[in-house]
Amino acid sequence: MYHRFILASVKLRTIMLFGALILSSLFSVNSFAANSIDGIRVWPAPENTRIVFDVKQKPEFKYFTLSKPDRLVIDFSNTKNAVALNNLATNDPRIKRFRSSVNKGKTRLVLELSQSYQLTVFPLAPAGQYGNRLVIDLYDKNRSKKNVSSPKQSVGDIIIGIDAGHGGEDPGSIGGKGTYEKKVTLAIAKKLKKVIDKEKGMKAVLIRSGDYYVDLNRRTSVARDNNVHFLVSIHADAFHTPGPHGASVWVVTEKRAESELSRWLVNREKKSELLGGGGGVIKNTSDSNLAFTLADMSKEHSLGVSFGVANNVIKELKKITKMHKKTPQNGNFAVLKSSDIPSILVETGFISNHKEEKNLTWSKHQQRLANAIHQGIKNHFLAHPLTGSYFATVGYKKHKVRSGESLSVLAKRYNISMSKLKSINNLKSNSLRIGQTLKIPRTG
Ligand SMILES: [Zn+2]
Repeated sequence: MYHRFILASVKLRTIMLFGALILSSLFSVNSFAANSIDGIRVWPAPENTRIVFDVKQKPEFKYFTLSKPDRLVIDFSNTKNAVALNNLATNDPRIKRFRSSVNKGKTRLVLELSQSYQLTVFPLAPAGQYGNRLVIDLYDKNRSKKNVSSPKQSVGDIIIGIDAGHGGEDPGSIGGKGTYEKKVTLAIAKKLKKVIDKEKGMKAVLIRSGDYYVDLNRRTSVARDNNVHFLVSIHADAFHTPGPHGASVWVVTEKRAESELSRWLVNREKKSELLGGGGGVIKNTSDSNLAFTLADMSKEHSLGVSFGVANNVIKELKKITKMHKKTPQNGNFAVLKSSDIPSILVETGFISNHKEEKNLTWSKHQQRLANAIHQGIKNHFLAHPLTGSYFATVGYKKHKVRSGESLSVLAKRYNISMSKLKSINNLKSNSLRIGQTLKIPRTG
């Protein structure tokens, strides 16, 4: 009895010891690593690279840099890495290689860099389709100078900034068939740049030219650095039901968003900043202070231009697509907010509407949208040319009809055919009113 008891207890102890060994070996792999890196995305942009780590839980991390050679080291405590690192840096000019090592549940990631960069590191709380993230931006040190793409502008060109909404980490709205707004906006933006660059007297600058995110404040400062006269932001609409459809054009005002739709849109833009940017986490204060001071000074002028272009763009869009709204809408979009630059935001259609989602991915329709936006902008600046611009020499001047002046008299005086004069002024008949304003081409 006694012996057997001892034997049994020895056996039990052996089993317990064995169990503890198994447990402790499990422990060192898993239990210390309560967190995990489940995804890594690299978004190279012209002036920075954004690296996003998907982490299961709020990350605990430390980071530091080393030189000769330049490296960025990030230690994630209690974290294992589930991502293959081999090909992550393939298309990035700033990161040569990712490598990792594990020590006591801590994962150390080493990014071998091409040179030293300015760093921004911040965690992002779950938003949209994303969970917890850690975001690292590697900024080129001479970025403010390098950023100016200085288009070969001849004197008198009107510079149009084209802002393709969203990008990179921020997909924008996603259609029922999986279409990303960020792709549609970039495709239309690129087509718009092409038609504008072909137009004598106009030149376009893309605020983003690839699949990366540009901070909303940064978008306007890029526009300013490029001496942009007018900024057009391209988006595709979405709603939580598939019904709403059609295009709309937005102009920024101080007025609060009133309709359910505009509230939805404004919230969506906030979400966008949360998805792709720092949101409230990092703020570029020095820059935005300047932006707001400038904005106050010239708000009135730029609002007038914004509404003028908006009306012209709507007129053109109407010819090729259904309109959701037939007048310019007032919005409170951050991308339009620095209103020292007159600007509009074009919602090219609803990506949440099945038919329009299909259209928006169709190259021919994208081209039509681009042509309409170009024509609308052009028409405004022809009718109201900027001083010193090429359009000021080819645009229209105004003529106020006085008593005794008929269409034929004016056609003769300005050396233009009656039919052309009628078509320019959208006249249905030959009769004129006294006091009526006519557009007269400057070059006859
Ligand atoms: Zn958008």
